Amino acid sequence: MNIDWSNLGFGYMQTEYRYVSNYKDGKWDDGELTKDSNVVLNESAGVLQYAQTCFEGMKAYRTEDGRVVCFRPDLNAQRMVESCKRLEMPVFPEDRFIDAVKQVVKKNIDFVPPYGSGATLYIRPYMFGTNPVMGVKPADEYQFRIFVSPVGPYFKGGIKPITLRVPDFDRAAPLGTGHVKAGLNYAMSLHAIVDAHNQGYNENMYLDSATRTKVEETGGANIIFVTKDNKVITPKSGTILPSITRRSLMYVAKHYLGLEAEEREIKIEEIGNFKECALCGTAAVLSPVGKVVDHGKITEFPSGMEKAGEITQKLYDTLTGIQMGRIEAPEGWIYEIEPVKAAV
Ligand SMILES: *Cc1c(COP(=O)(O)O)cnc(C)c1O
Repeated sequence: MNIDWSNLGFGYMQTEYRYVSNYKDGKWDDGELTKDSNVVLNESAGVLQYAQTCFEGMKAYRTEDGRVVCFRPDLNAQRMVESCKRLEMPVFPEDRFIDAVKQVVKKNIDFVPPYGSGATLYIRPYMFGTNPVMGVKPADEYQFRIFVSPVGPYFKGGIKPITLRVPDFDRAAPLGTGHVKAGLNYAMSLHAIVDAHNQGYNENMYLDSATRTKVEETGGANIIFVTKDNKVITPKSGTILPSITRRSLMYVAKHYLGLEAEEREIKIEEIGNFKECALCGTAAVLSPVGKVVDHGKITEFPSGMEKAGEITQKLYDTLTGIQMGRIEAPEGWIYEIEPVKAAV
């Protein structure tokens, strides 16, 4: 394979196989792996008219001893169930989801980046309504697919701190879809992210749309803060997407680093009291935030713009250590896809 693993960005690269299963007449077919990367749809397919689609994102890692593993795919399977229910889509069974992930990664094993390259294999499961709809109603037929793509870091410059701004846009309504992984949440965030980039910011820090006083998350990653006495805190809200990375980091903080970790409401006006801030998600991993700009008010975290804060770095090292097999994982976190050491 002629890929420059160390210089990969976070982008789509076509790989050899993808998994496809179709839902029709109230049931899923057996599913299969195919080399066909194109989807052909009716012009009035539910996904095209009313954005009936949801997705997941996870990664496969090459471990230090040459195995290929996947991180907590059971939680992605569970979360997709919640997304499907909220969007009136049929649930893809969790055991079949995990099995399909394993099949696709195995079939594209040469695309799993080598250990130490900084790259990983991104796994994208998704589902969408396929049959024609005209009146506003759920589709009757759906497709579930998984493709994979080798990726490098989400933010260029890797672990260099980024700057967020508090935007004049909201991400999620109180009883809306912010807590599920729906494509529509991203469609409406595109303008805000383009606008942020145009103004020189890396990402948006959204506030709760009901009161616009509490920190929620960015367009595609949750947020953690570290207090001056080394407590790891993360916003509590019903409209935040429950990040598996964030839930894992809170566990790591408590059980590996011996820190206090708490989920609570965090007011935008209190962020100046914190010493570190970072974004977390499968794509972002744990990206330090050096600065937050809220209209004229600038908060610079003591960890600065040159490197990650001390606790952020420890969390990052421990989580990635678990994912790459350098540190023993809690029971049930690591799913082995290829046990044998691949020939080099
Ligand atoms: C996917 C996603 C995350 C990160 O979730 P992980 O499970 O850690 O990858 C955070 N916020 C939003 C809005 C997301 O869509």
